[in-house]
Amino acid sequence: MHEFELIRKFFSRPSDDSSISVGVGDDGAVVVPADGRELVVVMDTLVAAVHFPTGLAPADLGYRSVAVNLSDIAAMSATPRWMTLALTLTNADEEWVGGFANGLYDAAEKYGLRLIGGDTTSGPTTTVTVQIIGDIVAGTATTRAGASAGDLIFVSGTIGDAVAGLALLQADAGKPYPLMSGQQEYLRRRFCRPDARVGLGMRLAGIATAAIDVSDGLFADLHKLLQASRVGGVIEVMQLPLSEELLAVMTYDEAIESALAGGDDYELCFTAAAADHDVVQRIASECRVAVSCVGTVAEGNALKCTRNGKEFDYRHTGYLHFAV
Ligand code: ADP
Ligand code: MG
Repeated sequence: MHEFELIRKFFSRPSDDSSISVGVGDDGAVVVPADGRELVVVMDTLVAAVHFPTGLAPADLGYRSVAVNLSDIAAMSATPRWMTLALTLTNADEEWVGGFANGLYDAAEKYGLRLIGGDTTSGPTTTVTVQIIGDIVAGTATTRAGASAGDLIFVSGTIGDAVAGLALLQADAGKPYPLMSGQQEYLRRRFCRPDARVGLGMRLAGIATAAIDVSDGLFADLHKLLQASRVGGVIEVMQLPLSEELLAVMTYDEAIESALAGGDDYELCFTAAAADHDVVQRIASECRVAVSCVGTVAEGNALKCTRNGKEFDYRHTGYLHFAV
């Protein structure tokens, strides 16, 4: 099956979205942004063996490649609208591509996102690049840069799960599809099908002073937010939201390490004025997402951790491509 047949068969599902004047099939897509709204553009690439184990189920890869981008859209408080897909495949295995497309469309349909174009090539390594274009009322996007000393630091959901899920997947690589316990299955799913916090992110526009999604580990990502805002901060590690499932497979100390260092959870980390604490909690409960206050923004430029109020030494840079 060649490139154009693949596109026609798997990536041309019809859509009746009136914001799309020209979709898949022409040289370019044409979309119509609504009056008074700005576009927010994000892109993330997943490379086999770097970002996901080669044995990952194709449907999970399809879902995950959309979810990791939705998480960036959520961090900006934008509404996801349109998506493009650049796919490099080592061979045109129809069953694999069909599974991948199903996972991709599952995520797209769940979040109201339309596939409007892309590129399909063969190459030495399976590589998936998704671009999402979102929109938002002009001037209201949340950035990394607005935190100030005294703001509270919040995290959605639970963190540290995905890295544990990935370890379980890797431990089972090459074996027949593993029969996992409920807890292991939960952790595995946290890696394969992360929940993008799109609804929460949209509601935080104008409330969050700064936001970032947690893709490289809370410590590293919060540090980036604080640097962009030119402030420092403190994380109280006993406030980190840890799932029961994570605590079932590791000790409390290991779970803290996993939460601070483990990437791939795609939760939101954001700051808000202390006076907005209750507003944040109300929004979180309306969005049915747990939100935990894990620390405070401070003067300076250092990010420190405490454990029960006492200094807790922790240094980690997160995952760096090309780091030696
Ligand atoms: P061109 O010859 O102009 O470079 P392509 O052959 O790359 O066009 O793509 C043909 C059409 O199919 C374009 O509309 C493109 O956006 C779309 N397309 C290609 N690959 C994908 C894909 N993986 N998913 C969705 N649309 C795709
Ligand atoms: Mg062309």
